[in-house]
Amino acid sequence: MSGSLNSSANTHSKSKGPNRLVFMESSVSKQAGDIDLSMPVQYLKGVGPARAEVFAKLGVNTVGDLLEYYPRDWVFAPQASKINRLRTGETATVIGLIESTDYQPYRRQPIFEVIASDETGICRIIWFHGGFLRDKLQPGQVIMAWGKVNEYRHQLQLANPKFRIIDAEAIGKKKVPDTFLTSAAEYFSGGVYTGGGGLSSGQIKKIIRPVLDGLERFAGEFYDDEFLKKAELISRKDALRWIHLPPDEDKLAKAQRRLKFDELFLMQLGLALRRHRHDRFAAAIAMKCSEEIDRRIRKRFPFLLTDDQDKTIAEIVADMQKATPMNRLLQGDVGSGKTVVALYAALLAVANRTQVAIMAPTEILANQHFISIERYLRKSDVRRILITGGLTGKKREEILQQIKAGQIDIVVGTVALLEKDIEFKKLGLAVIDEQHKFGVHQRAGLRKEGTPHCLVMTATPIPRTLAMTVFGDLDVSIINSSPPGRGTVVTRLVAPEDRIKAYEFIRERLRAKKQAYFVYPRITGVEEEGDIKAATDGWRELSKVFSEFKVELLHGRMGSEKKQRIMTEFRRGKINVLVATVVVEVGVDVPNATIMVIEGADRFGLAQLHQLRGRIGRGTDKSFCFLFADMDTENETAQSRLEMMERSNDGFEIAEHDLKLRGPGELFSTRQHGLPDLKIANIIEDYDLLVMARRSAFEMVSTDAILNKPEHKNIRHSLITKFGDSLGLADIA
Ligand code: ADP
Ligand code: MG
Repeated sequence: MSGSLNSSANTHSKSKGPNRLVFMESSVSKQAGDIDLSMPVQYLKGVGPARAEVFAKLGVNTVGDLLEYYPRDWVFAPQASKINRLRTGETATVIGLIESTDYQPYRRQPIFEVIASDETGICRIIWFHGGFLRDKLQPGQVIMAWGKVNEYRHQLQLANPKFRIIDAEAIGKKKVPDTFLTSAAEYFSGGVYTGGGGLSSGQIKKIIRPVLDGLERFAGEFYDDEFLKKAELISRKDALRWIHLPPDEDKLAKAQRRLKFDELFLMQLGLALRRHRHDRFAAAIAMKCSEEIDRRIRKRFPFLLTDDQDKTIAEIVADMQKATPMNRLLQGDVGSGKTVVALYAALLAVANRTQVAIMAPTEILANQHFISIERYLRKSDVRRILITGGLTGKKREEILQQIKAGQIDIVVGTVALLEKDIEFKKLGLAVIDEQHKFGVHQRAGLRKEGTPHCLVMTATPIPRTLAMTVFGDLDVSIINSSPPGRGTVVTRLVAPEDRIKAYEFIRERLRAKKQAYFVYPRITGVEEEGDIKAATDGWRELSKVFSEFKVELLHGRMGSEKKQRIMTEFRRGKINVLVATVVVEVGVDVPNATIMVIEGADRFGLAQLHQLRGRIGRGTDKSFCFLFADMDTENETAQSRLEMMERSNDGFEIAEHDLKLRGPGELFSTRQHGLPDLKIANIIEDYDLLVMARRSAFEMVSTDAILNKPEHKNIRHSLITKFGDSLGLADIA
């Protein structure tokens, strides 16, 4: 292959744009030298406008994109051997004409058999369970197969080899053309690319080839020799060549490792820079925390704080004492005592004569927060208020005025309400309880009000991998242990035929004055008619089953007052069974409720099931969670997911498991968080590399915060190409 550029005059005259002139001036012989990474792929040899469109659909616009369009698989076929040269035990490639095929389904292990020949002999090739090959392989085709040679009844054979059909219509040719023997293995070896739109893997391979000749120029090294040696990484240039043209499997593995590292490193570098800008340019009020303040705050809690609560508070206090805004994520399982920690931070801000906004995703949860805050602040002169949707007219105006005048210290409400039109005199701290809904936008929105310290609470344990990536610019505090004196929670997956038995068990507990939740599935992402209907039907049914008890219905479409009234009655024990859509999922704290029944459990994510289960086990009594699922028993994944719930009460373990099952993409999109997509690295499988990349990237930013040292030129360039303006990096270019 000699030419590397698309030198067709035809293409040139049709194409427009600034690249064209440069292109025309290029000499024909030194073509590789004229390609640069930002050049559209259209101008590469073998592409042109039509294929450029196909490439665009594959996400490849520039030569740089193409270089990072890594193969999805690789083929390593040895040089072909003549059939009479095959030796037992060796790995070999055979090229032969298919003489006959035979499928033998009646064997214990069904096999598909091919007899292939070249001019030196015949060879048997078999595939166990190869029924699917019946309409792929036919007599008359020339096949290339490679794999391990073994002996079967004194005859050499290949078992389960990989293969390619290299000539579909050799019938009558009698003899395999010699050219195949010398070039086929090489031809089929190397990368296998995902094609599409009439563009085959082989064509992509051809198109990339000349780009690789320019690697010397394109693949500027990111790191110094010392680092490469210490981290056992090969050069970037070799990695990019070998990922497309691997000489052997060992070199391929090295190339993969290096490119994965680079990808993770660039991501972490982006996060480190984002973090640096934040620390450097955003100003917050530095809070003072004396022993006296600490003592006064602790006096508010009727219990000793757990070690984890103490540790977390120390981290938060250290943050709030700085003049840069705190940006901390507080994670802890449901009931682990986060609210207490948040209230500590709130009281510290109030002691420093600033205001606090506490925001929750729903009104029920905001109300719940307000109730627990009230409990702790009884007889205190901290001025606090709950803002609800029901608050309107003059009363509302009055309250907004007071907040603006700084006459109210703590304002509790939903994110929607507090973000909209409330003006603070001096907002020192924003606490955002996101539960399982992570909203980067919400956090970003809040900053507009000045730069308060910011504490985000979440009850969905964020797997360590995600804490380092999508949340990688936040500091993280974790509460692992729960407050003492909690009853155990037993979880059971109930078979349909045992439903009545479960009802009777629940009846016993209700008679013992315990309370129960029945939760109906979320049918779509948001609560909809279907969910409400399911819960309403369930409520009618359960009112009959438990006719001697008070059974009430709760769902999101009810008026805010009615919802509050039902929750209050449930809290006071006046309602025995609460039938609900997932609105109870967040934040209700009723220690006497010890039964949780989840209908259609297979339709919930594991993290969500865990969240729901967290509503029980809040008192000292043993609690029970029953999962009903209407899936068929054939569905093994659904079954094993639910068994995980029976097995584990550990939110972190469940979240990691969920992440592995569903992949990071579905749970959290990196795009949404302003991070580039990963093409080769996987934050779960490549965890060790991720840790190493994170450490090195933050180290690099600590020594060269704007990456303007000459040795960081290449990496800075790559970073800007990758992140564009999303990190505000353009100003360091
Ligand atoms: P979370 O917000 O993490 O779900 P909460 O802060 O609401 O947890 O605490 C759950 C329950 O545990 C509350 O009833 C609270 O009063 C209680 N609690 C919190 N911290 C302690 C502690 N250190 N000792 C005893 N009980 C505690
Ligand atoms: Mg809470």
